[in-house]
Amino acid sequence: SQRTLVLVKPDGVARGLVGEVLRRVEAKGYTLVALELRRATPELLAEHYAEHAGKPFLQPLVDFMLSGPVVAAVVEGQRVVEGFRSLAGATDPTVAAPGTIRGDLARDWGRKVIENIVHGSDSPESAEREIGLWFPGL
Ligand code: ATP
Repeated sequence: SQRTLVLVKPDGVARGLVGEVLRRVEAKGYTLVALELRRATPELLAEHYAEHAGKPFLQPLVDFMLSGPVVAAVVEGQRVVEGFRSLAGATDPTVAAPGTIRGDLARDWGRKVIENIVHGSDSPESAEREIGLWFPGL
């Protein structure tokens, strides 16, 4: 089996979409193995978003991720990394397919950062790295 890190970002928590996101994950048949409401820190986000170092949207992204609590979850299942990214839909919610979390629940608010409800690890290797950051020891 495989694990992925799912984050409900501050926009999703503020809009009351935690249950909706978790509902879709559970309805798909994946298993929650860790779940926590928490605030990120600049240090954690610097590591989490290390691949975006130097990109113009990094600071707006970090500011956004610090703007309120997030829900962090470890989700397990066969091919769950790919499966959750399919549930989430494209990064840009304007064009994310209807039926996906971002396509159904997010849109462009004209802000510097793309507010798109969720994060999901992009590979099994990223997933294990990110799980180690958010849930050390798991
Ligand atoms: P995530 O990693 O959060 O699941 P993703 O893989 O679809 O999303 P990445 O390219 O890893 O997207 O970017 C991480 C996050 O940074 C995006 O989810 C979005 O919130 C923000 N972001 C990405 N590209 C841009 C951009 N060009 N302008 C503003 N914000 C962006």
